[in-house]
Amino acid sequence: MLVVMKKTATKEQIQKVLDVIENLGLTGHPIPGAQRTAIGITGNKGSLDPNLLGSLEGVLEAIAVSKPFKQVSREWKSEDTVVEVGGVKIGGDALVLIAGPCAVESYEQCSEIARAVKKSGANLLRGGAFKPRTSPYSFQGLGEEGLKILARVREEVGIPVVTEALDPDGVDLLETYADMIQIGARNMQNFSLLKRAGRSKLPVLLKRGMSATIDELLLAAEYIVSEGNKNVVLCERGVRTFSDHTRNTLDLSCIPAVKELSHLPIISDPSHGTGRREQVLAMSRASVASGADGVIVEVHNKPENALSDGHQAILPEMFQDLVDEMRALAPVMRRTFADRLVTAKHHE
Ligand code: PEP
Ligand code: MN
Repeated sequence: MLVVMKKTATKEQIQKVLDVIENLGLTGHPIPGAQRTAIGITGNKGSLDPNLLGSLEGVLEAIAVSKPFKQVSREWKSEDTVVEVGGVKIGGDALVLIAGPCAVESYEQCSEIARAVKKSGANLLRGGAFKPRTSPYSFQGLGEEGLKILARVREEVGIPVVTEALDPDGVDLLETYADMIQIGARNMQNFSLLKRAGRSKLPVLLKRGMSATIDELLLAAEYIVSEGNKNVVLCERGVRTFSDHTRNTLDLSCIPAVKELSHLPIISDPSHGTGRREQVLAMSRASVASGADGVIVEVHNKPENALSDGHQAILPEMFQDLVDEMRALAPVMRRTFADRLVTAKHHE
């Protein structure tokens, strides 16, 4: 249930509604808006009688939230959420470009790629220290050593960092070294991880599971938001289909669908979505054309030697082309293109 207050509602009237909600044994979440305040209610098992709250002073209307997810829904909050990551805004007017290797392999590799992508216009650096690999014999990532490399590169190059946590302990470590927690496709329904990320101060990049529906993705986001962390960015990274010319099928029609259902930003990952270097630029353009708030792509300076996902990594020169295309596309989509959103916190 969502209680929409009148524009003229006083603080006391808002408080009264919150008190009534509390007396019912439920939790009220005030959502201040540009025009008026709304109060979302969680904790109810079944539907609430709208008349109960609708008749209180200062209340414009009480409306039932019809979706299984609440706090991430557009019904709950109509304005787009903008998530800030180390001074970079995701979900605002500007498109965000996140680039970097699949895995952190060494300081030299990470530093060289970070410098190249930042020079071209990347806003955030990606790179896995904990890798979720299909085979236990594949490279698992450098672990905490990889996080230390990322933190050093972040300071030296001046670019915020997003990296994956595989479990709640990983979130503890990321809080020391990173700017954003990535929750990967394989962990989209790892509920203890989602809850731990929900208690973190760091924003979260939540990737869609490879066979997850949009409702399941949004309910996974709800786990994070309901623990208190409102800073969630969704990511479409391709789903499993019968189609075998790509690694996954990048489901771009989910972008407008998610935009309709949720106020959270959503970006696209054409690297994992296609698994093929040759398709990454085309599907990046398509992603932005479909309304994505940006893209996350894998870039490697020596893809033939990469310890993971080399076949889908684009070269730094290709990333420069991608940035040029994004810059050209942005005004068509009525978006801005911010080459440098990095704040003074990170030096040049
Ligand atoms: C990754 O970003 O390197 C990754 C493992 O992605 P996903 O979880 O989407 O497979
Ligand atoms: Mn990868």
